[in-house]
Amino acid sequence: MGDIYKCCENPQITYLAAVNINISEKTIGSVDVWRCAFCKKHFCEEKQLGIDSITDIVGMPRIEDDEKWGVIVSKTQKGKDKWKLSKLKKSGVIKFETVDEKIIALKMINYEIVDDFHSSFLIEDHLNTSVEI
Ligand SMILES: [Zn+2]
Repeated sequence: MGDIYKCCENPQITYLAAVNINISEKTIGSVDVWRCAFCKKHFCEEKQLGIDSITDIVGMPRIEDDEKWGVIVSKTQKGKDKWKLSKLKKSGVIKFETVDEKIIALKMINYEIVDDFHSSFLIEDHLNTSVEI
């Protein structure tokens, strides 16, 4: 058993909002967003429509100070394979696992992916809205 991740000294985590993921105006999944009232960090959980979470996360998923929650959209995929909750960095390169389990490198500029086959958006910009992918 590893240490349980704590975002700060005094975590007070409450549900904040959801972001719906739509294809052709139909919701195919969503991201639940939680926030710590003390340190204001966000925590996110991906929900594919019709699939129950298999595991309960103990505590909240870890996110580093230089990362933000976002969704990576694969332009070449369809349906539930088209999007994935990810942690985005302000700049540099992030590693991304594709549907065929290949690890590819994606370039980031200002928390946005710059790539011919992938795009991205930040969760914090779309709280309580639907995003068409
Ligand atoms: Zn906190």
